[in-house]
Amino acid sequence: MVAIRARARFGSSSAGGGIVIPIAVPLLAEEEADAARAAVLSGWVSQGPQVAAFEREFAALVGAPHACAVANCTTALQLALAALDIGAGDEVITVSHSFIATANVIRHQGATPVFVDIDPETYNLDCTRLVEAITEHTRAIIAVHQMGMPCDMAALLPIARRHGIAVIEDAACAAGSQIRMNGEWEPIGKPHGDIACFSFHPRKVITTGEGGMLTTANAELDRKFRLLRQHGMSVPDTVRHNSSSVIFEEYVVLGYNYRMTDMQAAIGRKQLERLPELVARRRAVAAKYAEQLGNLEGLRLPTEPTWARSNWQSYCVRLPDRLDQRIVMQHLLDDGIATRRGIMCAHREAPYYDVTQDQDLRQSELAQDRAILLPIYAQMSAEDTSKVSAALRAELER
Ligand SMILES: *Cc1c(COP(=O)(O)O)cnc(C)c1O
Repeated sequence: MVAIRARARFGSSSAGGGIVIPIAVPLLAEEEADAARAAVLSGWVSQGPQVAAFEREFAALVGAPHACAVANCTTALQLALAALDIGAGDEVITVSHSFIATANVIRHQGATPVFVDIDPETYNLDCTRLVEAITEHTRAIIAVHQMGMPCDMAALLPIARRHGIAVIEDAACAAGSQIRMNGEWEPIGKPHGDIACFSFHPRKVITTGEGGMLTTANAELDRKFRLLRQHGMSVPDTVRHNSSSVIFEEYVVLGYNYRMTDMQAAIGRKQLERLPELVARRRAVAAKYAEQLGNLEGLRLPTEPTWARSNWQSYCVRLPDRLDQRIVMQHLLDDGIATRRGIMCAHREAPYYDVTQDQDLRQSELAQDRAILLPIYAQMSAEDTSKVSAALRAELER
């Protein structure tokens, strides 16, 4: 169907003669290139009709009443906090065990991050430890669906509601993931909290190069996202462009330029068409890993809780304690197989050294230090999957 491409461009300059199996490869083909070309030639290249269409199609796909496209997921998360008026003096609960952007947006809004440890089974916020982190200053929870595995929203939402706290889902990795709520399988993004934020970075399941999306059921929040992403401008330029009468705009709030371009949105629309197939192919790779690695002594594989269906944005395995993470990764790299260590912990990075932390983050730290991410992407061949499994098996049996 689609030619395998981009492999050479992901080659590494590392010793050992380059990567044979990269950690991730986006699936981009002629359809995306044609769509970007058409957007360029249309003459409208900033946020315009392609962005509007991408938003409608994304909203329909996840079953959200509103979807607002932005420059990336980091800006989406920041706008989510801004639209909820979260700032100085407010506390936002989240996990340290996430890409650093999750914590950074809290700081950029002037609020205080409060880190809760993870459940080692799902690598997501441990909802049994949530209540102890809530104070009178808590205004929001950022629930991360880490690596595409849904966070336990059925446990989290009642606690948030009881305390009157807003819920933002960091769904950066989770386009195409599903969660069973009230007996139904529903797409992540519906949203289940107040706002869900997605990323279209090339490391995610669908990509626009850079890109983000906010979904919400709240029309007032959606209106705020649209104002804030475009300088607080009362009348978008698309409206002025199409108007037969002169319109003077106003700048009604302090906004930002967080727009997506029409070239990116045109690519995103093609990626959305592929999403079900991309997820199905990733599920097949994950199933193969589970079959080939399942009986290895001491290796912990990722498993879906009965209420979750991952899009398998990443495949994260936990090494037995007797193995050194870096050495295993180096041996795989020497075999031409790229891996990554477990998801980082923000509290171990310089901007967060000063966070006063009540809760121990032992499981978060263990996950960073003991887990490795294996290559997974839609066009990964069965042969390559087997090669990775065999190399990892050799490490465990060494
Ligand atoms: C990738 C990622 C982000 C940031 O997304 P960008 O689109 O690169 O800004 C935020 N949170 C998590 C959990 C991510 O994985």
